[in-house]
Amino acid sequence: MDFNLPDDLREVQATIRDFMLTRVEDRAQEIEHTNSVPPELIKEAADLGLFGLSIPEEYGGVGLSSLGRCAVYEAMGQGHMGFGGMISAHASIGTSGLVKLGNEEQKQRFLPRMAAGECIAGFAITEPSSGSDAGNIRTKAVKKGDVYVLNGTKHYISNAPIAGLLTVIAITDPAQGSRGMSAFLVEPQSTPGVSIGKIDEKMGQKGALSAEVIFEDAEIPAANLLGPENRGYREALGILTNGRVGIAARSTGAMQRLLDLSVAHAQTREQFGKPIAEFQAVQFMLAEMEVAIQTSRVLWQKVAWMVDQGQDVKRMASVAKYHATEMLSQVADKAVQVAGGMGYVKDAPFERFYRDQRLLRIYEGTSEIQKVIIAAELLRR
Ligand SMILES: Cc1cc2nc3c(=O)[nH]c(=O)nc-3n(C[C@H](O)[C@H](O)[C@H](O)COP(=O)(O)OP(=O)(O)OC[C@H]3O[C@@H](n4cnc5c(N)ncnc54)[C@H](O)[C@@H]3O)c2cc1C
Repeated sequence: MDFNLPDDLREVQATIRDFMLTRVEDRAQEIEHTNSVPPELIKEAADLGLFGLSIPEEYGGVGLSSLGRCAVYEAMGQGHMGFGGMISAHASIGTSGLVKLGNEEQKQRFLPRMAAGECIAGFAITEPSSGSDAGNIRTKAVKKGDVYVLNGTKHYISNAPIAGLLTVIAITDPAQGSRGMSAFLVEPQSTPGVSIGKIDEKMGQKGALSAEVIFEDAEIPAANLLGPENRGYREALGILTNGRVGIAARSTGAMQRLLDLSVAHAQTREQFGKPIAEFQAVQFMLAEMEVAIQTSRVLWQKVAWMVDQGQDVKRMASVAKYHATEMLSQVADKAVQVAGGMGYVKDAPFERFYRDQRLLRIYEGTSEIQKVIIAAELLRR
Protein backbone atom coordinates (compact mmCIF):
# COMPACT_ATOMS: atom_id res chain seq x y z
CA MET A 1 0.00 0.00 0.00
CA ASP A 2 1.19 3.49 -0.82
CA PHE A 3 -0.56 6.28 1.04
CA ASN A 4 1.26 9.05 -0.86
CA LEU A 5 -0.62 10.90 -3.54
CA PRO A 6 1.29 10.78 -6.85
CA ASP A 7 3.63 13.76 -7.37
CA ASP A 8 1.58 15.18 -10.25
CA LEU A 9 -1.56 15.29 -8.09
CA ARG A 10 0.35 16.96 -5.26
CA GLU A 11 1.51 19.62 -7.71
CA VAL A 12 -2.04 20.15 -8.93
CA GLN A 13 -3.18 20.44 -5.31
CA ALA A 14 -0.52 23.07 -4.60
CA THR A 15 -1.61 25.11 -7.64
CA ILE A 16 -5.29 25.01 -6.69
CA ARG A 17 -4.59 25.75 -3.03
CA ASP A 18 -2.51 28.74 -4.07
CA PHE A 19 -5.31 29.99 -6.35
CA MET A 20 -7.87 29.61 -3.57
CA LEU A 21 -5.75 31.23 -0.86
CA THR A 22 -4.59 34.17 -2.95
CA ARG A 23 -6.80 35.02 -5.94
CA VAL A 24 -10.12 33.87 -4.45
CA GLU A 25 -9.37 34.88 -0.86
CA ASP A 26 -8.43 38.39 -2.09
CA ARG A 27 -11.98 38.73 -3.45
CA ALA A 28 -13.71 36.93 -0.54
CA GLN A 29 -15.19 40.08 1.00
CA GLU A 30 -16.56 41.09 -2.40
CA ILE A 31 -18.15 37.65 -2.86
CA GLU A 32 -19.66 37.90 0.63
CA HIS A 33 -21.10 41.38 0.01
CA THR A 34 -22.36 40.89 -3.54
CA ASN A 35 -23.33 37.21 -3.23
CA SER A 36 -21.77 36.61 -6.63
CA VAL A 37 -18.48 35.37 -8.03
CA PRO A 38 -16.58 37.94 -10.14
CA PRO A 39 -16.45 36.81 -13.81
CA GLU A 40 -12.63 37.12 -13.80
CA LEU A 41 -12.44 34.42 -11.13
CA ILE A 42 -14.70 32.14 -13.19
CA LYS A 43 -12.36 32.66 -16.14
CA GLU A 44 -9.27 31.94 -14.04
CA ALA A 45 -10.90 28.82 -12.58
CA ALA A 46 -11.75 27.66 -16.11
CA ASP A 47 -8.16 28.26 -17.24
CA LEU A 48 -7.01 26.08 -14.34
CA GLY A 49 -9.35 23.31 -15.54
CA LEU A 50 -11.68 23.43 -12.54
CA PHE A 51 -14.83 23.37 -14.68
CA GLY A 52 -13.56 20.37 -16.63
CA LEU A 53 -12.35 18.20 -13.75
CA SER A 54 -14.62 15.30 -14.65
CA ILE A 55 -14.89 15.99 -18.38
CA PRO A 56 -12.74 13.74 -20.64
CA GLU A 57 -9.89 15.41 -22.50
CA GLU A 58 -11.46 14.80 -25.91
CA TYR A 59 -14.26 17.20 -24.88
CA GLY A 60 -11.88 19.86 -23.56
CA GLY A 61 -11.74 18.77 -19.94
CA VAL A 62 -8.89 17.47 -17.81
CA GLY A 63 -10.55 14.09 -17.25
CA LEU A 64 -9.18 13.35 -13.80
CA SER A 65 -9.74 10.05 -12.01
CA SER A 66 -11.91 10.10 -8.89
CA LEU A 67 -8.72 10.26 -6.79
CA GLY A 68 -7.50 13.22 -8.84
CA ARG A 69 -10.80 15.07 -8.62
CA CYS A 70 -11.04 14.58 -4.89
CA ALA A 71 -7.43 15.72 -4.43
CA VAL A 72 -8.46 18.93 -6.19
CA TYR A 73 -11.62 19.20 -4.08
CA GLU A 74 -9.55 18.92 -0.89
CA ALA A 75 -7.29 21.76 -2.07
CA MET A 76 -10.36 23.78 -3.10
CA GLY A 77 -11.95 23.16 0.31
CA GLN A 78 -9.23 25.25 1.93
CA GLY A 79 -10.60 28.38 0.32
CA HIS A 80 -13.92 30.21 0.07
CA MET A 81 -16.58 27.53 0.46
CA GLY A 82 -19.19 29.35 -1.62
CA PHE A 83 -16.80 29.58 -4.55
CA GLY A 84 -15.88 25.91 -4.07
CA GLY A 85 -19.55 24.97 -3.78
CA MET A 86 -20.40 26.65 -7.07
CA ILE A 87 -17.58 24.81 -8.86
CA SER A 88 -18.26 21.43 -7.31
CA ALA A 89 -22.03 21.56 -8.02
CA HIS A 90 -21.01 22.01 -11.67
CA ALA A 91 -18.06 19.60 -11.82
CA SER A 92 -19.63 16.89 -9.69
CA ILE A 93 -23.41 16.39 -9.77
CA GLY A 94 -23.90 18.85 -12.65
CA THR A 95 -21.55 17.05 -15.00
CA SER A 96 -21.24 13.40 -14.05
CA GLY A 97 -24.64 12.28 -15.41
CA LEU A 98 -23.90 13.65 -18.88
CA VAL A 99 -20.38 12.16 -18.90
CA LYS A 100 -21.67 8.75 -17.83
CA LEU A 101 -24.95 8.49 -19.72
CA GLY A 102 -24.82 11.04 -22.54
CA ASN A 103 -24.73 9.98 -26.17
CA GLU A 104 -22.07 11.42 -28.47
CA GLU A 105 -24.29 14.19 -29.82
CA GLN A 106 -25.25 15.33 -26.30
CA LYS A 107 -21.63 15.30 -25.13
CA GLN A 108 -20.42 17.27 -28.16
CA ARG A 109 -23.23 19.78 -27.67
CA PHE A 110 -22.51 20.61 -24.04
CA LEU A 111 -19.24 19.29 -22.61
CA PRO A 112 -16.72 21.58 -24.41
CA ARG A 113 -18.61 24.71 -23.28
CA MET A 114 -18.96 23.27 -19.78
CA ALA A 115 -15.21 22.56 -19.55
CA ALA A 116 -14.53 26.15 -20.63
CA GLY A 117 -16.76 27.53 -17.86
CA GLU A 118 -19.08 29.04 -20.49
CA CYS A 119 -21.98 26.75 -19.62
CA ILE A 120 -22.33 26.20 -15.87
CA ALA A 121 -24.21 23.08 -14.88
CA GLY A 122 -26.43 21.91 -12.05
CA PHE A 123 -28.50 18.92 -10.99
CA ALA A 124 -32.15 19.06 -9.98
CA ILE A 125 -34.02 16.39 -8.10
CA THR A 126 -35.18 18.07 -4.84
CA GLU A 127 -38.74 19.43 -4.68
CA PRO A 128 -40.68 21.29 -2.00
CA SER A 129 -42.52 18.08 -1.05
CA SER A 130 -39.61 15.66 -1.43
CA GLY A 131 -36.08 16.21 -0.20
CA SER A 132 -34.70 13.20 1.64
CA ASP A 133 -37.54 11.17 0.15
CA ALA A 134 -36.22 11.79 -3.35
CA GLY A 135 -38.04 8.78 -4.77
CA ASN A 136 -41.30 10.63 -4.23
CA ILE A 137 -40.92 13.60 -6.57
CA ARG A 138 -43.93 15.01 -8.43
CA THR A 139 -42.46 16.75 -11.49
CA LYS A 140 -43.88 14.97 -14.53
CA ALA A 141 -42.56 14.56 -18.05
CA VAL A 142 -45.17 13.48 -20.59
CA LYS A 143 -44.01 12.43 -24.04
CA LYS A 144 -45.83 14.19 -26.91
CA GLY A 145 -44.33 13.48 -30.33
CA ASP A 146 -40.70 14.47 -30.29
CA VAL A 147 -40.83 16.44 -27.03
CA TYR A 148 -41.40 15.74 -23.34
CA VAL A 149 -43.67 18.25 -21.61
CA LEU A 150 -42.44 18.99 -18.09
CA ASN A 151 -44.57 20.36 -15.25
CA GLY A 152 -43.51 20.77 -11.64
CA THR A 153 -41.22 22.67 -9.30
CA LYS A 154 -37.69 21.93 -8.09
CA HIS A 155 -36.20 23.93 -5.24
CA TYR A 156 -32.83 24.67 -3.61
CA ILE A 157 -31.12 23.91 -6.93
CA SER A 158 -27.44 24.90 -6.82
CA ASN A 159 -26.27 27.09 -9.71
CA ALA A 160 -29.83 27.36 -11.11
CA PRO A 161 -29.66 31.18 -11.42
CA ILE A 162 -26.50 31.01 -13.55
CA ALA A 163 -26.87 27.57 -15.13
CA GLY A 164 -26.73 26.93 -18.86
CA LEU A 165 -27.60 23.28 -18.29
CA LEU A 166 -29.50 21.34 -15.65
CA THR A 167 -29.82 17.58 -15.34
CA VAL A 168 -33.45 17.29 -14.23
CA ILE A 169 -35.11 14.18 -12.80
CA ALA A 170 -38.83 13.82 -13.60
CA ILE A 171 -41.50 11.11 -13.60
CA THR A 172 -42.14 9.52 -16.98
CA ASP A 173 -44.17 6.51 -15.80
CA PRO A 174 -46.20 7.31 -12.67
CA ALA A 175 -47.39 3.70 -12.38
CA GLN A 176 -43.83 2.57 -11.62
CA GLY A 177 -43.08 5.02 -8.80
CA SER A 178 -39.34 5.67 -8.43
CA ARG A 179 -38.69 3.13 -11.21
CA GLY A 180 -40.59 5.38 -13.57
CA MET A 181 -38.30 8.42 -13.46
CA SER A 182 -36.04 9.74 -16.19
CA ALA A 183 -33.21 12.26 -16.49
CA PHE A 184 -33.37 15.21 -18.91
CA LEU A 185 -30.90 17.79 -20.12
CA VAL A 186 -32.62 21.15 -19.72
CA GLU A 187 -31.30 24.53 -20.87
CA PRO A 188 -33.10 26.83 -18.40
CA GLN A 189 -32.03 30.10 -20.00
CA SER A 190 -33.45 29.32 -23.44
CA THR A 191 -36.35 26.93 -22.88
CA PRO A 192 -39.85 28.49 -22.86
CA GLY A 193 -41.82 27.32 -19.83
CA VAL A 194 -38.73 27.01 -17.60
CA SER A 195 -38.26 29.82 -15.09
CA ILE A 196 -35.95 30.44 -12.15
CA GLY A 197 -37.57 31.56 -8.90
CA LYS A 198 -36.21 33.90 -6.26
CA ILE A 199 -32.59 33.27 -5.30
CA ASP A 200 -32.43 31.64 -1.85
CA GLU A 201 -31.08 33.86 0.93
CA LYS A 202 -28.75 31.49 2.73
CA MET A 203 -26.88 31.41 6.03
CA GLY A 204 -23.58 31.09 4.18
CA GLN A 205 -21.86 29.89 1.03
CA LYS A 206 -22.27 33.28 -0.59
CA GLY A 207 -21.64 33.19 -4.32
CA ALA A 208 -23.02 29.64 -4.58
CA LEU A 209 -26.50 30.59 -5.72
CA SER A 210 -29.48 28.29 -5.41
CA ALA A 211 -33.10 28.81 -6.42
CA GLU A 212 -36.39 27.25 -7.44
CA VAL A 213 -36.76 25.96 -10.99
CA ILE A 214 -40.34 26.02 -12.25
CA PHE A 215 -41.59 23.99 -15.21
CA GLU A 216 -44.87 25.09 -16.82
CA ASP A 217 -45.61 23.07 -19.94
CA ALA A 218 -41.90 23.24 -20.76
CA GLU A 219 -41.18 21.35 -23.97
CA ILE A 220 -37.89 19.46 -23.75
CA PRO A 221 -36.72 17.84 -27.02
CA ALA A 222 -36.78 14.03 -26.83
CA ALA A 223 -33.14 14.22 -27.94
CA ASN A 224 -32.43 15.63 -24.46
CA LEU A 225 -33.47 12.46 -22.64
CA LEU A 226 -30.32 11.43 -20.77
CA GLY A 227 -29.79 7.68 -20.68
CA PRO A 228 -32.64 5.17 -21.00
CA GLU A 229 -36.20 6.20 -20.15
CA ASN A 230 -37.28 5.20 -16.63
CA ARG A 231 -33.71 4.80 -15.38
CA GLY A 232 -33.47 8.34 -13.96
CA TYR A 233 -33.79 7.56 -10.26
CA ARG A 234 -31.22 4.81 -10.25
CA GLU A 235 -28.80 7.00 -12.18
CA ALA A 236 -29.50 9.98 -9.93
CA LEU A 237 -28.61 7.91 -6.89
CA GLY A 238 -25.34 6.95 -8.60
CA ILE A 239 -24.57 10.62 -9.34
CA LEU A 240 -25.25 11.55 -5.71
CA THR A 241 -23.20 8.61 -4.36
CA ASN A 242 -20.08 9.66 -6.27
CA GLY A 243 -20.67 13.31 -5.34
CA ARG A 244 -20.49 12.38 -1.65
CA VAL A 245 -16.82 11.42 -1.89
CA GLY A 246 -16.08 14.89 -3.23
CA ILE A 247 -17.92 16.49 -0.31
CA ALA A 248 -15.80 14.43 2.10
CA ALA A 249 -12.66 15.71 0.36
CA ARG A 250 -13.87 19.34 0.41
CA SER A 251 -14.64 18.98 4.13
CA THR A 252 -11.13 17.68 4.78
CA GLY A 253 -9.63 20.71 3.03
CA ALA A 254 -11.81 23.09 5.06
CA MET A 255 -10.71 21.38 8.29
CA GLN A 256 -7.04 21.67 7.27
CA ARG A 257 -7.42 25.39 6.66
CA LEU A 258 -9.17 25.87 10.00
CA LEU A 259 -6.44 23.95 11.79
CA ASP A 260 -3.68 25.94 10.06
CA LEU A 261 -5.40 29.20 11.04
CA SER A 262 -5.92 27.95 14.59
CA VAL A 263 -2.29 26.87 15.06
CA ALA A 264 -1.03 30.21 13.74
CA HIS A 265 -3.40 32.10 16.03
CA ALA A 266 -2.57 29.97 19.08
CA GLN A 267 1.15 30.54 18.59
CA THR A 268 0.89 34.30 18.26
CA ARG A 269 -1.95 35.27 20.58
CA GLU A 270 -0.66 35.83 24.10
CA GLN A 271 -2.68 35.79 27.30
CA PHE A 272 -1.44 35.55 30.88
CA GLY A 273 2.02 36.39 29.54
CA LYS A 274 2.41 33.49 27.12
CA PRO A 275 1.07 32.18 23.80
CA ILE A 276 -2.31 30.49 24.27
CA ALA A 277 -0.76 27.46 22.47
CA GLU A 278 0.96 26.71 25.79
CA PHE A 279 -2.37 26.02 27.48
CA GLN A 280 -3.25 22.34 27.34
CA ALA A 281 -6.95 23.14 26.84
CA VAL A 282 -6.02 24.83 23.56
CA GLN A 283 -3.54 22.10 22.59
CA PHE A 284 -6.26 19.48 23.02
CA MET A 285 -8.56 21.33 20.64
CA LEU A 286 -5.77 21.41 18.04
CA ALA A 287 -5.08 17.70 18.59
CA GLU A 288 -8.76 16.82 18.15
CA MET A 289 -8.85 18.79 14.89
CA GLU A 290 -5.83 16.86 13.63
CA VAL A 291 -7.51 13.51 14.41
CA ALA A 292 -10.60 14.64 12.50
CA ILE A 293 -8.52 15.63 9.48
CA GLN A 294 -6.40 12.50 9.34
CA THR A 295 -9.36 10.12 9.63
CA SER A 296 -11.40 12.05 7.06
CA ARG A 297 -8.50 12.18 4.59
CA VAL A 298 -7.81 8.46 4.76
CA LEU A 299 -11.52 7.79 4.21
CA TRP A 300 -11.97 9.99 1.13
CA GLN A 301 -8.75 8.66 -0.38
CA LYS A 302 -9.90 5.08 0.12
CA VAL A 303 -13.36 5.68 -1.33
CA ALA A 304 -12.01 7.64 -4.31
CA TRP A 305 -9.61 4.77 -4.97
CA MET A 306 -12.53 2.31 -4.76
CA VAL A 307 -14.47 4.38 -7.34
CA ASP A 308 -11.46 4.23 -9.68
CA GLN A 309 -11.33 0.44 -9.20
CA GLY A 310 -14.97 0.23 -10.27
CA GLN A 311 -16.08 -0.99 -6.85
CA ASP A 312 -19.52 -0.38 -5.35
CA VAL A 313 -19.07 2.55 -2.95
CA LYS A 314 -22.64 3.08 -1.84
CA ARG A 315 -21.93 2.32 1.82
CA MET A 316 -18.39 3.74 1.94
CA ALA A 317 -19.29 7.01 0.19
CA SER A 318 -21.88 7.58 2.90
CA VAL A 319 -19.37 6.63 5.61
CA ALA A 320 -16.87 9.16 4.21
CA LYS A 321 -19.41 11.96 3.76
CA TYR A 322 -21.01 11.43 7.15
CA HIS A 323 -17.71 11.31 9.00
CA ALA A 324 -16.02 14.23 7.26
CA THR A 325 -18.98 16.62 7.38
CA GLU A 326 -19.78 15.87 11.02
CA MET A 327 -16.09 16.29 11.89
CA LEU A 328 -15.98 19.55 9.96
CA SER A 329 -18.78 20.98 12.10
CA GLN A 330 -16.86 20.07 15.25
CA VAL A 331 -13.61 21.46 13.86
CA ALA A 332 -15.28 24.73 12.81
CA ASP A 333 -16.68 25.10 16.31
CA LYS A 334 -13.29 24.44 17.93
CA ALA A 335 -11.57 26.87 15.55
CA VAL A 336 -13.98 29.63 16.60
CA GLN A 337 -13.24 28.74 20.23
CA VAL A 338 -9.44 28.86 19.75
CA ALA A 339 -9.79 32.24 18.04
CA GLY A 340 -11.95 33.66 20.84
CA GLY A 341 -13.67 36.96 19.91
CA MET A 342 -11.80 36.99 16.61
CA GLY A 343 -13.60 33.75 15.77
CA TYR A 344 -16.99 35.44 15.98
CA VAL A 345 -16.36 38.62 14.00
CA LYS A 346 -16.06 38.84 10.24
CA ASP A 347 -12.46 40.17 10.13
CA ALA A 348 -10.98 36.64 10.02
CA PRO A 349 -12.25 33.60 8.04
CA PHE A 350 -13.29 31.54 11.12
CA GLU A 351 -16.81 32.98 11.21
CA ARG A 352 -17.28 32.45 7.46
CA PHE A 353 -16.22 28.80 7.60
CA TYR A 354 -18.46 28.28 10.63
CA ARG A 355 -21.51 29.39 8.59
CA ASP A 356 -20.47 27.90 5.28
CA GLN A 357 -19.69 24.39 6.47
CA ARG A 358 -23.15 23.80 7.94
CA LEU A 359 -24.65 23.06 4.54
CA LEU A 360 -22.43 20.04 3.96
CA ARG A 361 -24.32 18.00 6.56
CA ILE A 362 -27.55 18.73 4.69
CA TYR A 363 -27.14 18.60 0.93
CA GLU A 364 -26.51 15.54 -1.23
CA GLY A 365 -28.17 13.56 1.57
CA THR A 366 -28.40 14.67 5.20
CA SER A 367 -26.28 13.00 7.89
CA GLU A 368 -29.35 11.03 8.92
CA ILE A 369 -29.87 9.78 5.37
CA GLN A 370 -26.19 8.72 5.23
CA LYS A 371 -26.81 6.63 8.35
CA VAL A 372 -29.99 5.19 6.83
CA ILE A 373 -27.94 4.14 3.76
CA ILE A 374 -25.07 2.69 5.83
CA ALA A 375 -27.43 0.69 8.03
CA ALA A 376 -29.50 -0.54 5.07
CA GLU A 377 -26.33 -1.76 3.35
CA LEU A 378 -25.16 -3.52 6.52
CA LEU A 379 -28.48 -5.24 7.04
CA ARG A 380 -28.82 -6.21 3.37
CA ARG A 381 -25.65 -8.35 3.51
C1 LIG B 1 -28.12 25.50 -0.39
C2 LIG B 1 -28.69 24.19 -0.87
C3 LIG B 1 -28.29 23.72 -2.10
C4 LIG B 1 -28.85 22.53 -2.60
N1 LIG B 1 -28.51 22.09 -3.84
C5 LIG B 1 -29.23 21.09 -4.41
C6 LIG B 1 -29.05 20.75 -5.79
O1 LIG B 1 -28.19 21.30 -6.47
N2 LIG B 1 -29.85 19.81 -6.33
C7 LIG B 1 -30.81 19.18 -5.62
O2 LIG B 1 -31.52 18.35 -6.19
N3 LIG B 1 -31.01 19.45 -4.30
C8 LIG B 1 -30.24 20.40 -3.69
N4 LIG B 1 -30.43 20.73 -2.37
C9 LIG B 1 -31.44 20.01 -1.62
C10 LIG B 1 -30.86 19.11 -0.52
O3 LIG B 1 -30.26 17.97 -1.10
C11 LIG B 1 -32.00 18.79 0.44
O4 LIG B 1 -32.25 19.98 1.15
C12 LIG B 1 -31.66 17.66 1.39
O5 LIG B 1 -31.58 16.44 0.69
C13 LIG B 1 -32.67 17.52 2.52
O6 LIG B 1 -33.98 17.56 2.05
P1 LIG B 1 -35.03 18.57 2.74
O7 LIG B 1 -34.43 19.90 2.78
O8 LIG B 1 -36.32 18.41 2.05
O9 LIG B 1 -35.15 18.06 4.23
P2 LIG B 1 -36.10 16.88 4.74
O10 LIG B 1 -36.00 15.71 3.85
O11 LIG B 1 -37.45 17.44 5.02
O12 LIG B 1 -35.41 16.50 6.14
C14 LIG B 1 -35.66 17.24 7.34
C15 LIG B 1 -35.03 16.44 8.50
O13 LIG B 1 -35.65 15.13 8.58
C16 LIG B 1 -34.64 14.14 8.54
N5 LIG B 1 -35.13 12.96 7.87
C17 LIG B 1 -35.83 12.87 6.71
N6 LIG B 1 -36.07 11.59 6.39
C18 LIG B 1 -35.48 10.84 7.34
C19 LIG B 1 -35.36 9.43 7.58
N7 LIG B 1 -35.87 8.52 6.72
N8 LIG B 1 -34.70 9.02 8.68
C20 LIG B 1 -34.15 9.91 9.55
N9 LIG B 1 -34.24 11.27 9.37
C21 LIG B 1 -34.89 11.70 8.29
C22 LIG B 1 -33.49 14.79 7.76
O14 LIG B 1 -32.25 14.14 8.01
C23 LIG B 1 -33.53 16.20 8.30
O15 LIG B 1 -32.87 16.25 9.52
C24 LIG B 1 -29.81 21.84 -1.83
C25 LIG B 1 -30.17 22.32 -0.56
C26 LIG B 1 -29.63 23.49 -0.09
C27 LIG B 1 -30.06 24.01 1.26
